[in-house]
Amino acid sequence: MRALVLREHGYRLSAEELPTPTPGPGEVLVRVEACGVGLTVLNYMSGASRVHAEKLPRIPGHEFVGRVAACGPGVESGLEGRRVMAYFYLSCGACEFCRLAHEPLCRNLRGQVGVASDGGFAEYAVLPAFNALPVPDGVDPIFATAIPDAVATPFHVCRRAAVGPEDTAVVVGAAGGVGIHMVQVLRVFGAGVVGVDRGASKVESLRAMGFAAVDATEDTWPQQVREVAGGAVTVAVDLVGRPHTLEACVDLLGPRGRLVVLTTFRDVTFPVSPARLVAGEIQVLGSRYASRWEVLQAARMVVEGRVRPVVSEVRPLEAAAELVSRLRDGTLLGRGAVVPTGNL
Ligand SMILES: [Zn+2]
Repeated sequence: MRALVLREHGYRLSAEELPTPTPGPGEVLVRVEACGVGLTVLNYMSGASRVHAEKLPRIPGHEFVGRVAACGPGVESGLEGRRVMAYFYLSCGACEFCRLAHEPLCRNLRGQVGVASDGGFAEYAVLPAFNALPVPDGVDPIFATAIPDAVATPFHVCRRAAVGPEDTAVVVGAAGGVGIHMVQVLRVFGAGVVGVDRGASKVESLRAMGFAAVDATEDTWPQQVREVAGGAVTVAVDLVGRPHTLEACVDLLGPRGRLVVLTTFRDVTFPVSPARLVAGEIQVLGSRYASRWEVLQAARMVVEGRVRPVVSEVRPLEAAAELVSRLRDGTLLGRGAVVPTGNL
């Protein structure tokens, strides 16, 4: 099979011909139709977000969708031919966190798809059957690549922060792969939304989708958010995760405010005043990926047309480098996807 292989940390992938993998016990072989390309993959490739001592070479790509081509021993053969999407975390399925649908907190986490096991930048990929979630009928496979991370992660955020119709939310990094779905999911949960991102074209895209938007290239962006929101906000979602954005988010929160953080840069800390937390009963919440149940709920929101996946650029597998450079430049709206020629 054709595959893109990361041989050393950096942004270079080598196109190679490799043997098609065989599914082991409890695993399925997926013929990849499309695989998402986003910042999480880039951070992994660069080596910046190394959490587990993963081994290279590795085929990256965790947001893949395709049809089950073969089942390993112990997997019900009825899965064959079924279109599935990859659940990102290699959770055990047996510990108390997995049993209570908190799979990202798994006690026996083996890592992530495309990091600790080969991912979807290839014609075929092997997944534990636990990680192969059904794609509902009627969803385009390219759109479906956005569901298991870019739509499901925001769904988990909204549940973590108990978002409801009384809320006004600000999203920092609102035109990125997760952000452009975060604003949509917040709207589904009933919140008013102000999106913040850098550059006129991204701000225009957010406005074209019906969202209030502010350009973060101007230093006055927090004041502008306050003006657009008509005062303080009750929910702030920071997808950029730098000290100045985190501090600005806390400053923007009014009483009952909830800051949700999703970034994992190990060198970043930011000051929070306990007096301010107490005075406004403000909460700072970490949000880690999503459960398998939440991925299925995310898929329902897409099927019902309440969230529209934004996969703005699609390229053949071999041209993944073009998407990588667009992401590094910060010029890609939403997600990109690669498609192994002939598989779709
Ligand atoms: Zn577990």
